[in-house]
Amino acid sequence: MAEKRDYYEVLGVERNATEEEIKKAYRKKAIQYHPDKNPGDKSAEEKFKEAAEAYDVLGNAEKRARYDRYGHAGVNGASGGGAGGFSMEDIFSQFGDIFGDAFGGAFSGFGFGGGRSSARRVPRGSDIRIRVKLPLKDIVHGVEKTVKINKMVQCPDCHGRGAASEADIKICPDCNGTGMVTRVQKTILGAMQTTSPCPRCGGEGKIITNPCRKCSGSGLVKKAEEITFKIPAGVAEGMQLTIQGKGNAAKSGGVNGNLLVVIEEERDPELERDGNDLIYSLFISVADAINGCEAQIPSVDGMLKIKIEPGTQPGKTLRLRGKGVPDVNGYGTGDLLVIVQVWIPKRISKEERAMVEKLGQSENFKAKPTQDEKSFFNRIRNMFK
Ligand SMILES: [Zn+2]
Ligand SMILES: [Zn+2]
Repeated sequence: MAEKRDYYEVLGVERNATEEEIKKAYRKKAIQYHPDKNPGDKSAEEKFKEAAEAYDVLGNAEKRARYDRYGHAGVNGASGGGAGGFSMEDIFSQFGDIFGDAFGGAFSGFGFGGGRSSARRVPRGSDIRIRVKLPLKDIVHGVEKTVKINKMVQCPDCHGRGAASEADIKICPDCNGTGMVTRVQKTILGAMQTTSPCPRCGGEGKIITNPCRKCSGSGLVKKAEEITFKIPAGVAEGMQLTIQGKGNAAKSGGVNGNLLVVIEEERDPELERDGNDLIYSLFISVADAINGCEAQIPSVDGMLKIKIEPGTQPGKTLRLRGKGVPDVNGYGTGDLLVIVQVWIPKRISKEERAMVEKLGQSENFKAKPTQDEKSFFNRIRNMFK
């Protein structure tokens, strides 16, 4: 499928257009390409869907921000895709109200099962959900993944029609091709008329007299397919990315389901994640805390050298700005917090014990913290509450 067009171009608005301008532009396009105005016109239908897809993103502040930053990959992660991710049904259920005042409600009856017997359901393939486990490095930098997926694709023999040949597809005699049947039931309140999808053809209006042998008439076969998609930087455990149109195929004339990618975070052995910040516990000796030292801090981009000042208290937190995780919506990057811990040896030799005892007698080692210094420790205590 061809590359997706720029959403701003699709709606014909400037990149700095206001919400109101975007809504207006979409409304204009949607009315121009509305299926009621262009019956049977495939290219109008594609344009109608393309405009809906663009509006779905640009009409939503959060999605728009992601699109501005990452392009199409930021909003659906798909490398290809193209229009058609939306079914007509989706569009009317999501954006139906936009037509409301233009036609005095004339379109409100459009929609499916809304009394319009000719409005047949568009078959839609089911979604496929996969889980992808990512190490911290891939979360910080974003990553392109290729996965092999067993999915339903249109049968190559019958091109998804399910029939051995075109001549084996007949108009359903039960519903005369409308896909809907009307039944009259007698109830205590009198005769009630109900309309429901035709059970014989499943609402499609067509039946197959001689099914395709390869797919037994389902129009679909299973196939392993490699799918490549981009995962933006900053994703977190449990987030779900939607790769439009990469799920199971539908029968001919339908639209593909989506591939849903659920993110799992691999635990990093050294760095703990807290939102967009990373936390590292640095253990130093008593001597280094007193005299100061240089220390190596692991980060996703290799080791960083930092200086520990003489007289550093346990619990002191150093902030390495911008060395954390980028925000998935593009709002900056988190920090790497280094929490200094002073490690007290549990076993010491006789000589060492004598030295520590001597140190304990010394003037400065008998001193108590000042009021200011005490409040520093209280701050730390409150941080971990
Ligand atoms: Zn087939
Ligand atoms: Zn039927």
